[in-house]
Amino acid sequence: VKNTTVPNLDDSMNNTEEDEVEVVDLAANSLLNKLIRQSLVESSHRVEVLQKDPSSPLYSVKTFEELRLKEELLKGIYAMGFNRPSKIQEMALPMMLAHPPQNLIAQSQSGTGKTAAFVLAMLSRIDASKPFLQCLCLAPTYELALQTGRVVEQMGKFCVDVRVLYAIRGNPIPRRADVTQQIIIGTPGTILDWYFKRKLIDLSKICVFVLDEADVMIATQGFSDQSIRIQRVLPSECQMLLFSATFEDSVWQFAGRIIPDPNVIKLRKEELTLNNIRQYYVLCENRKDKYQALCNIYGGITIGQAIIFCQTRRNAKWLTVEMMQDGHQVSLLSGELTVDQRASIIQRFRDGKEKVLITTNVCARGIDVKQITIVVNFDLPVNQLEEPDYETYLHRIGRTGRFGKKGLAFNMIEVNKLPLLMKIQEHFNSSIKQLNPEDMDEIE
Ligand code: ADP
Repeated sequence: VKNTTVPNLDDSMNNTEEDEVEVVDLAANSLLNKLIRQSLVESSHRVEVLQKDPSSPLYSVKTFEELRLKEELLKGIYAMGFNRPSKIQEMALPMMLAHPPQNLIAQSQSGTGKTAAFVLAMLSRIDASKPFLQCLCLAPTYELALQTGRVVEQMGKFCVDVRVLYAIRGNPIPRRADVTQQIIIGTPGTILDWYFKRKLIDLSKICVFVLDEADVMIATQGFSDQSIRIQRVLPSECQMLLFSATFEDSVWQFAGRIIPDPNVIKLRKEELTLNNIRQYYVLCENRKDKYQALCNIYGGITIGQAIIFCQTRRNAKWLTVEMMQDGHQVSLLSGELTVDQRASIIQRFRDGKEKVLITTNVCARGIDVKQITIVVNFDLPVNQLEEPDYETYLHRIGRTGRFGKKGLAFNMIEVNKLPLLMKIQEHFNSSIKQLNPEDMDEIE
């Protein structure tokens, strides 16, 4: 087992932090998603479209050729290995590339091709021979801005003279005369600073404005208002595009304020279900007991790969050490790691280098490892009120119906937590059977 996966036991983290239930960091999760993404995420749902002008014809494309793109851009797309537009791109690209330009609000889960779509729109509208800013893209963090910039660089590989300026804190501040790039990507705070305070950038010729990751953006204090201040200074004919992976009411309200007269495109996510999961629980006295039960299960059935969820970092670490001492190949994924470290642990797990991944809540959402056969709740997911956290339970264990291979889930339950488990069972109207860990024959 590689050293990188061994938890550092004498680190300086204070105890309270270790015992806390970790909070999900949206921007970090979004970045992690991008780093570990290997291909497009599919959805069996239809794309829903709400046109600004319902009487105008609705175009969709099945090939990139139909879009009549510049030669060098088409080359860039094919060089990235794209053969045909993704589901959302089929509808979004014709709208985004239409003349006159149309505004768009698009929502679909991460991995469905939104970034590629707006990068394509930006690149196709740029006049590379003109050395001034023409596209502005707002991103919630430094790292996410860089990721988008990478896509611009890849897709624009054959578009000579197209260059990107990054407006992110810590980046050297250019002199006004040196701003000859056509695309600027940055966080709202830094763009505002460069525009209003330092008067470094000219936004008067921006023809495409992209607000990416709107849901992450509005979760960051001050970013909504800052984005709106930026939008207000853009030319009235500028095309405005907003993207989001999720669409709560707050995102809608914000989108409505910042994107005038939009078309709206939505692609619903594949629903998770517990239908093809066999769920069990084992009654335990304490943590050691849970561990013993886990070992019995682990020894009793042939397991491909397993994910074990703990509620706190402390528990996750403890369990990792126990399992390592017993000779298991495990790795630990928890919130104290950088996003890069998390991505590399997930990659190693996907490659089968470790059989068991122990993790806390924080990382639960980002992982989509198809070959996992069992999921263990070493601790049940609960919220601050000590009520069951149904959504997290579903995310940990559920599979999408369509890709649903059969799965096994085990819950390690202290006796006093049994009522919580019963509530979960009731909530999902699905049965969770009790298991005697000494008798694995019960698992059919
Ligand atoms: P999102 O912005 O919705 O998260 P991305 O644009 O980042 O989605 O696309 C997700 C992944 O799919 C990326 O690895 C991207 O390179 C790839 N991808 C995007 N569009 C296509 C396409 N038309 N064909 C094949 N792969 C694509």
